Amino acid sequence: MVRSTQATTLTFSTSPYFHDRGQHGTAQPITERINPHSRPIVSYYFPQGVGAQHYGERHPMKPHRLSLTNALVMGYGLDKQIHNIYDPRPATQEELEMYHDHDYIEFLSRVTPQTQTEMKQMIDSFNCIEDCPVFADMYDFCRMYAGASLAGARKLCSGTTDIAINWSGGLHHAKRGEASGFCYVNDIVLAILELLRYHPRVLYIDIDIHHGDGVELAFYQSNRVMTVSFHKYTGDFFPGTGKLDDNGSGPGRHFCMNVPLQDGIDDEMYLTIFKTVIDDTVTAFRPSAIVLQCGADSLGCDRLGAFNLSIAAHGECVNFVRKYNVPLLVVGGGGYTIKNVSRCWTYETSVLVGAEIPDELPQTVYDAFFADSHWKLHPPLTGKVDNQNTPASLKRITMSIRNKLRFLQGAPSVAMQEVPPDLQGLLADEDRNGEERDEEKGTGQAGQIRNDRHIGRGEFFDADDDNDADDAPPSTRGRRGRGRGRGRGRGRGRGRAAAAAPVEGETSPTSTPNADDGDDAPAPSRGKGRGRGRGRGRGRARARGRAVAAAARESTTTQETVDGSTSATPTETPTPVEELPTPVDAPTPSDAALPRFGSKGTSDAGKQDDKQMDVDSDTAMEIDDD
Ligand SMILES: [Zn+2]
Repeated sequence: MVRSTQATTLTFSTSPYFHDRGQHGTAQPITERINPHSRPIVSYYFPQGVGAQHYGERHPMKPHRLSLTNALVMGYGLDKQIHNIYDPRPATQEELEMYHDHDYIEFLSRVTPQTQTEMKQMIDSFNCIEDCPVFADMYDFCRMYAGASLAGARKLCSGTTDIAINWSGGLHHAKRGEASGFCYVNDIVLAILELLRYHPRVLYIDIDIHHGDGVELAFYQSNRVMTVSFHKYTGDFFPGTGKLDDNGSGPGRHFCMNVPLQDGIDDEMYLTIFKTVIDDTVTAFRPSAIVLQCGADSLGCDRLGAFNLSIAAHGECVNFVRKYNVPLLVVGGGGYTIKNVSRCWTYETSVLVGAEIPDELPQTVYDAFFADSHWKLHPPLTGKVDNQNTPASLKRITMSIRNKLRFLQGAPSVAMQEVPPDLQGLLADEDRNGEERDEEKGTGQAGQIRNDRHIGRGEFFDADDDNDADDAPPSTRGRRGRGRGRGRGRGRGRGRAAAAAPVEGETSPTSTPNADDGDDAPAPSRGKGRGRGRGRGRGRARARGRAVAAAARESTTTQETVDGSTSATPTETPTPVEELPTPVDAPTPSDAALPRFGSKGTSDAGKQDDKQMDVDSDTAMEIDDD
């Protein structure tokens, strides 16, 4: 197709945006051919304006990649195959404080480039320097991407979607009381806390090239959240954590997996270890919900990364997780060669909706980004870095993880039990507004704007097109879904304490919730700890903790015996949280030793840098066109 038809409406027909691209196609459903009812219900969250945010001219994190991704997704016609497309409302300060410290969020909401000088001391103490600069609308940006992940989690809890996608989320480095690695607010932790209200066990999988340290830290002591991170680990590569023998602590011991890899890992090796570890983990842990962080800096040719993955292999990881048919929240993350990030996440969107998309990219206003690879979805990205992993080294990792998973065997009896009703939800019932009740019924309208142009999207789903309609039968989970939204927010702070250090072994659903004890739970000792504990024990957090603890009560924890074996016998006596051992393992490198995000931290850095410079000038120039 000659694209001159666009020239009359687009005034830049002579610009590089205008190309004769030949034939291109749109997305074709593939699973539908097998069974139209087997297709998962997919909800896609794209906060309007999130792609226009800007960290700074030379900063590698470019939210503009989200605009590119969205343009390709729409260009391929994938929007017609996604059940629901939402412009979610931004998260409220109260929602952000379900995990983050009040002082920190208060700071984020107040600091601007104009107030930087007078707030210098706080900027330093909250680590909003270097990697994490203060930029205009920074707080709005945080609220947008966090709101999208929270909306996705709520939708999953209501049982009205099988898969929720938020490419703007996945900022896995943010800590409770400080920014880290381009991340200010940890939307993943917030979303998992939301999922924990209804799901007894959540599996977090992270395929970003960087260790998912912020999420790991938040749930380091929890046996209800298993974190599995695949990342480059050399000790001096950001964030410096994530070695093989970091296992979690307290009740969370053995519920934290790290797969440390070296530069240049290729498709075959990565997929082998990924599938082995994830399969073993899912078998042992039996999650009722999965959160998948799809950082695209693990692709070959990334500006900051040093792996050799193709988009097809990255997408195969997503496909592999999808096939478990467990409620799935998919978020973005890192990814600094933005033309490849957008290709990758577009491809993964097609994988998740079960559609086949041609290699020829659709025409978009961002055509210039993709010209150098002749507008292909799958450009050659592999083989640029020497593979420093060996079959033997990977085998060693696999064996070690398999050994660790032995501790979990028989543990998740919780998965077989009913999730308790949300007691706090009942109490907060009166506080809910109509919108929130609608959401609970599965209409998904609460505080989010449904894109009108997608109202007719149901044509691809003959019998399932009313899944988000008012008369949709609420699922069991949905009926329990009371108290989401404003009312319930009051108690969250307490809840996060409970989630970070879950109550062990209570068995009677009628026993008194002991979440109040959660306040005194020892904080994880990992991380720099700045700001940790600030604001804990605020009265407003009380009720929410009870709700989380109610869910935790159903949890049967693995009791490690003296000889190191495990038994899954539910303990009859509630164990006060105060008595949980204080975590002492998992040391964190000192601040001085912490590498900066932007550095590759290996001898291969130089090799990559030349190429990165090209990409950098490339993207820096192009982003100005937006
Ligand atoms: Zn990363």
